[in-house]
Amino acid sequence: MIAAVPNPAKVATARKSLLHDVDEVRLAAEMVAFGARLQVLEAEVSLSRERLTRLYKELRGVSPPKGQLPFSPDWFLAWRPNIHASLFLSAYDFLVTQSTYSRIECVLAAYRLYVEQAATIGEESILSFTRAWTLIRFVEIDTLKLCPCSSCGGKYVRHTYDLQDKLVCGLCAPPPRAATGRGRQTSTPGDVQARQARQPREPVPERLQGCAQPHAARVSSVQIEAELNRHQA
Ligand SMILES: [Zn+2]
Repeated sequence: MIAAVPNPAKVATARKSLLHDVDEVRLAAEMVAFGARLQVLEAEVSLSRERLTRLYKELRGVSPPKGQLPFSPDWFLAWRPNIHASLFLSAYDFLVTQSTYSRIECVLAAYRLYVEQAATIGEESILSFTRAWTLIRFVEIDTLKLCPCSSCGGKYVRHTYDLQDKLVCGLCAPPPRAATGRGRQTSTPGDVQARQARQPREPVPERLQGCAQPHAARVSSVQIEAELNRHQA
């Protein structure tokens, strides 16, 4: 009688697909922990909708919210969202060029850095994970991009085909009443620059002043080091 010897090729494939499955569940769980919408999970991992819904319920104790994803690029151009989006996208850009992470791992790591940095300066993380993910999609389809500010040299998010030259970022030209947080939230940096000529400007809230460094330097090297170590562990 011939003993049943497992086919090495089949074993390797099964093991690989199992590991792939584990990896996808881990990624999905990380995204769920950040509150990612179901559509985001479905776009990033190949697990079934049923499994993703179950995972979401297990981790958050509620069903995933229904409804459309936030889809307007204009949200990222309002004054305060623009600062948050620029902080996240700068970290993402850095990780894409300096790490060996996959694209979605870069999104997750950059989002973690953004949340930590916002907490450090006492700012609420107004950029949700789903919005951050949407921002990356807008960058990938060439709708939004990081551009250098003509005043401080830091990079900030603006429309790819913005025809105006020499625009400045929201930190260099905050809207009136920015200090009280009651500034017009719909102002784009372009609007702000135009208004700046007409109205005296109030100072940026102290907690945001730390962001006024060139954006590439905003996420400290210590944080990035910690993030890279966390990934390798
Ligand atoms: Zn600037």
